[in-house]
Amino acid sequence: MEIKDLTALELSKEIQSGHVSVQEALKSTLEEISKKEKNVHAYLNVWEKEALSRAKIVEKEIREGRLKGPLAGVPVAVKDNICTEGMETTCASRMLKGFRPPYQAEAVSRLLEAGAVIVGKTNMDEFAMGSTTETSAFGVTRNPWNPDHVPGGSSGGSCAAVAAGECYLALGSDTGGSIRQPASHCGVVGLKPTYGTVSRSGLIAYGSSLDQIGPVGKTVADCAAALEAVASWDRKDSTSLNRGPLGLLEELEAFDGSLHGMRIGVPKEFLSKGVQREVQQAVADAVEILTRRGAQIEFFSLELTDYAIPTYYIIASAEASSNLSRFDGVKYGYRAIEAEDLHKMYRMTRSKGFGEEVKRRIMLGSFVLSSGYYDAYYLKALKAKTLIKQAFDRAFERFDVILGPVAPTSAPKIGESLQDPLSMYLGDIYTVLSNLAALPAISVPALLDDAGLPVGIQLMSDCFQEKKLLRAAKAFEEERGELKAHAPKEEPSHGKVSQKAAKQDRSGLGEVTAK
Ligand code: GLN
Repeated sequence: MEIKDLTALELSKEIQSGHVSVQEALKSTLEEISKKEKNVHAYLNVWEKEALSRAKIVEKEIREGRLKGPLAGVPVAVKDNICTEGMETTCASRMLKGFRPPYQAEAVSRLLEAGAVIVGKTNMDEFAMGSTTETSAFGVTRNPWNPDHVPGGSSGGSCAAVAAGECYLALGSDTGGSIRQPASHCGVVGLKPTYGTVSRSGLIAYGSSLDQIGPVGKTVADCAAALEAVASWDRKDSTSLNRGPLGLLEELEAFDGSLHGMRIGVPKEFLSKGVQREVQQAVADAVEILTRRGAQIEFFSLELTDYAIPTYYIIASAEASSNLSRFDGVKYGYRAIEAEDLHKMYRMTRSKGFGEEVKRRIMLGSFVLSSGYYDAYYLKALKAKTLIKQAFDRAFERFDVILGPVAPTSAPKIGESLQDPLSMYLGDIYTVLSNLAALPAISVPALLDDAGLPVGIQLMSDCFQEKKLLRAAKAFEEERGELKAHAPKEEPSHGKVSQKAAKQDRSGLGEVTAK
């Protein structure tokens, strides 16, 4: 097997045993980047020079027995809203072009401590607002499975980089699905941990009460290793948790594959609606696979699902409007120097520095926080958030894990989504719930649709239950086998909900008309 085809954990073993050097691993990654990046555009910045000199140091430390962990020597990419000391961090926005943070994000410090070699910073939707990576100010990322399609978003660069073999692991951020949804669209694994597991220090804030950093990888075990490395209790983030060592890799290594005794619930609300046929198929396959592994599966009603989108978009926009007020042309990045007085400078800087989608969110957020509407919208959304959390509390009295889709459709074509932002928002229906309730959730590739695009399934568990979540995900992944083996059978899809039909109703709120 070629170096580029190894998983992060396999590569790590080869490196530890001396079969592969850190420089060889990095060179193979850089070769993939030079071959594919022209078409994919997963990276905003590739740190070739820095990575090569870092690889040398890491190699030495490994050979001297000082670096032993599973990430040592592994080429990793980092989403461009995660601060890297002295290295440009833009959030894919004109506003931060040229911004070199004077500090390192805690998650990046952890990666470096673990011996990872950072290859570069990945493209994303501007300030992580979007679902397609098309709102980046620096050009779209293309889906490695089909360049006419988006990779999903907002961590589209990170997921495309892993899918294209342009790195072994990547960090993304997930405020309402931005790790899991692009992972599903790119056929890779994406894990959003329990809120507070990874320090947000140095993650440029979007919706602070929802934001979490998490890993993207080729396999469930790779993601477990990466999460373990970056998770930390950190005084610089007052919402970070002291969970001690997570023990996720050990758990997976000891796992015998059996899900006997595990209760899995599938919310009816997630399926009875206008969801693309293959997405429904992916969930149906997962029900079968997990049952075969011994899990008990039951369909149930998850209350308040319909409130997820309005609640999320009110809270996320409110927090975004407050968080983004710091970008005023004074402290960071871009400044409209042509303005003749201070107020005009603020206004021009923000008008020119931010893209359309970001401005839309700032306006929406300022509106729901304004004195006349605060009670009617923001406060109500906070109450709805509490009720959604309680609905999950009740569900987790009955179930260990909840199974459902990641997104109503596979990756849309480039250019299709931006004309209709509202319908794009509705596509987040299945992912925002776990952010509102602070739950861990994972997206695992399940099959390829008629167009040959990947479709994933989503598993969620209660807070702190990542071990259960990963066991279920691993069992699914093992039974599924090669993703490519799940390509469509030559069978016409007449009368079924196609991607196009489902796309017109991204919410999944319309009924499935034909069976
Ligand atoms: N698509 C969602 C949004 O635009 C989620 C983004 C995210 O998780 N960062 O808000």
